[in-house]
Amino acid sequence: MFQNLSERLETAFKNLKGEARITDLNIANTVKDIRRALIDADVNYKIAKEFTDKIKEKAMGEKVLNAISPGQLMVKIVQDELTELMGGQEAEFNISGNPAVILIAGLQGSGKTTFTGKLANYLKTKKGKSPLVVAADIYRPAAIDQLTVLAGQIGVDIYAERENKDAVAIALNAIKQAKATNKNVVIIDTAGRLAVDEAMMTEVANIKAAVNPAEILFVVDSMTGQDAVNTAKAFNDRLDFSGVVLTKLDGDTRGGAALTIQYTVNKPVKFVSSGEKMETLDVFYPARMAQRILGMGDIASLVEKAQEQYDEEQARKLEKKIRKNQFDFQDFLDQLQQIKKMGNIKDLMGMIPGVGKAIKDIDISDDAFKGIEAIINSMTPFERANPDSINPSRRQRIAKGAGKEMSEVNAFMKQFDQMRQMMKMMNKMPMGRMQGLMGR
Ligand code: GDP
Repeated sequence: MFQNLSERLETAFKNLKGEARITDLNIANTVKDIRRALIDADVNYKIAKEFTDKIKEKAMGEKVLNAISPGQLMVKIVQDELTELMGGQEAEFNISGNPAVILIAGLQGSGKTTFTGKLANYLKTKKGKSPLVVAADIYRPAAIDQLTVLAGQIGVDIYAERENKDAVAIALNAIKQAKATNKNVVIIDTAGRLAVDEAMMTEVANIKAAVNPAEILFVVDSMTGQDAVNTAKAFNDRLDFSGVVLTKLDGDTRGGAALTIQYTVNKPVKFVSSGEKMETLDVFYPARMAQRILGMGDIASLVEKAQEQYDEEQARKLEKKIRKNQFDFQDFLDQLQQIKKMGNIKDLMGMIPGVGKAIKDIDISDDAFKGIEAIINSMTPFERANPDSINPSRRQRIAKGAGKEMSEVNAFMKQFDQMRQMMKMMNKMPMGRMQGLMGR
């Protein structure tokens, strides 16, 4: 995420640290480097200039010249200002009302329908709500089909009327339906167009007037950079939305939209979406995003994600099995699936300080575990629970079932065995020593 911007900023700071003395001149140079980095990240020139003027003023004022570690102080100033630029505090998300109505607007292809599914999933799994998603796109039957599929995946109800060409009526009928079926959040996915268009705006504005939404979220593809910011302006002028959703942060996004939308329209970014899986939706935290941009990782989010996936009882059960040397293939498969649920593997690793940069050119796809999963899936339940039972003839059958070479199965068996040996060894250690090793 924002790799290029991160690298450019890092270089700017490095140049400063290399200087024997900090002077007005080399602060000016650093600031100029930062400004160029921002402009290349598709930040509007005026905003970049204003931003760096502020950095310069603070740097000169905050006794950077006399500081013991001026480089670090500069990083801190930039971190604070980036956080501020992106809105400072995280924004509230309003789900009051019964049902709470959330209106989703944006251009076609921005990721509205995908986000509608993700938000419903988020509200259901993390906020204990029962959402109803509504397909109010009266122009594209395919949009209804798409939302139907997503709703099925996440197990929430959908409301659509294929013959009705009145989006306002559909929205109102959906709310009635929600009340009748005890749904407490209604998420309305509206029709988009390829470009800002008066008829589209009027339609969404009419729905807004009719349903009195708790939130109007404007969804925008972050890969479109400055265009994203301009589109946001046009939508906000007409709809006065309550928050922004940045999608496709997993792509080759330069960062301009994430950095400047809040500043430009004075509305907070509330969610960021990065991937096509229903679980890849995150609340937007300006401070954490600033840390990530500055290559400091985002340990807070990583720990939260891990906590969300691992319930305590499951963790205890697993620990028990490891202690009794009973860790088997089924446990291994379960662990892989937990990790995958946390999100895109490369993104996750990027949250560890320093790792993002180290792995930026390495292709770590979510398919990395596919081979291993295929091998375990081709085992019988008995074999999964009894790793020692897997003799050569069973291996041959497993390889065939998984579509793998025998050598791949052998290699995986060997790795698994080494892992179990390691667990056994740790179990034999005195408690104190082991806890030390596990970093407790
Ligand atoms: P809509 O026309 O605004 O409803 O947009 P869709 O939800 O149909 O999304 C358009 C395309 O972008 C689809 O192919 C989605 O799978 C894809 N998409 C949506 N959100 C994301 C995201 O966060 N990351 C990536 N990589 N693709 C996304």
